[in-house]
Amino acid sequence: MGCYNGGNEGNNATTQRETKMSHTFTIEQIMIADNDYGGFCTACGEEAFGVEPDARNYECESCGERKVFGASELAIMGLVE
Ligand SMILES: [Zn+2]
Repeated sequence: MGCYNGGNEGNNATTQRETKMSHTFTIEQIMIADNDYGGFCTACGEEAFGVEPDARNYECESCGERKVFGASELAIMGLVE
C-alpha cells in the first residue's frame, strides 16, 4: 500500500454498486417456477403462482407492487444468479 493517493478519501466509495435495486433469483428457482406457472416479485422477492412465464408487472400479493414477473421474463431480464 503506502501513501499513494492518500489524503482524499470519502467521495469515491458511494457510487460503486448502484445496481442493487432488484431481487435476483437462483436458476433453480427459475426452473421450478417455469415448470409450475410461477413467477417472482422483483420488489420483495416473494414467489407468485398462476403466472405465465412471460408475465410482466403483475401485482404482488405480498407487497402490492406491480413487479411480479414470470420465470422466463426474469431470466431475460438477467435477474438470475
Ligand atoms: Zn412483492
